[in-house]
Amino acid sequence: MTHRETEGTIVRGYCGFYYVLAGEQTYTCSLRGKFRLKENNRVFLPGDRVRIRIREGDKGVIEDVYPRRTELLRPPIANVDQVLLVFALANPDPDFVLLDRLLILASQGGVEPVIVFTKADLAHPQMIEKINELYSAIDVKPFVVSSKQPDTLEPVRSLLDGKISVVAGPSGAGKSTLLNGLSPGLSLKTGDVSSKIGRGRHTTRHVELLVLPTGALIADTPGFSTLFLPDIPAYELGSYFPEMTEFLGCCRFNTCLHKAEPDCAVREALEKGLIHEQRYAHYLIFLNELVERERTA
Ligand code: GDP
Ligand code: ZN
Repeated sequence: MTHRETEGTIVRGYCGFYYVLAGEQTYTCSLRGKFRLKENNRVFLPGDRVRIRIREGDKGVIEDVYPRRTELLRPPIANVDQVLLVFALANPDPDFVLLDRLLILASQGGVEPVIVFTKADLAHPQMIEKINELYSAIDVKPFVVSSKQPDTLEPVRSLLDGKISVVAGPSGAGKSTLLNGLSPGLSLKTGDVSSKIGRGRHTTRHVELLVLPTGALIADTPGFSTLFLPDIPAYELGSYFPEMTEFLGCCRFNTCLHKAEPDCAVREALEKGLIHEQRYAHYLIFLNELVERERTA
């Protein structure tokens, strides 16, 4: 009998076994002996691309692993393409400071951010206006969805095709509801925070990639929600605000932090209304954090 080889993606690891998705089929794989030798010992993550040798039926052996394009620590997943930043438009109101923080984390981690605003059915028209104002100047066009209007999910669904995505955002934002809506048949627990605490998926140590019928892979755990900014030098913070980048080279001082320095092109752009006041206010919050961190380091 000949053994076929194929390539696939690890979607879950469990007690020495790995579930590898190749095409439409999931194979239960063990590791080839060489990976268990001390000198080769490495951690295989969901998202890792591997070459497997298929044994009988749905059993296989991982023969080789390909280099990672990206590696996220929280949640631990390899080759993540994008992070969905999920925020409700109402109930609770969006925390725009947290959203801007997560935008910085994503771009520093080399992961494309995608903003998804949920609960459009509950939103004030002014809130829709506000998000358009806030994020029109940066290249991340927000998606606006509602679990009450399933067709609003279609644009998000097509964005996920062929990619590995993780989901981030505060509790109650509608992350589980969104994932359930995107993946018929899935039934993640939704509801208020207290009913979820201590239940399976938040206590489990095993991160899993959910396979949508379209082939999209999504991490089942909301992760990626640390409140700490990454270790970026204060003077580089401006480059994480896409609407500021065109002005950065035009300040009088090349060490300008765009706070109170004379002839600051960023502040001039702010006064002309080219940079949104609230985005700039968040810039100052983050700047102070980074400066303080550098001072106490
Ligand atoms: P998570 O903590 O981010 O996973 O949030 P959940 O998915 O558990 O949602 C929190 C609450 O908001 C639940 O009661 C959901 O039914 C509700 N919810 C989620 N999305 C929507 C939506 O688009 N519209 C409305 N009206 N309620 C929603
Ligand atoms: Zn400046």
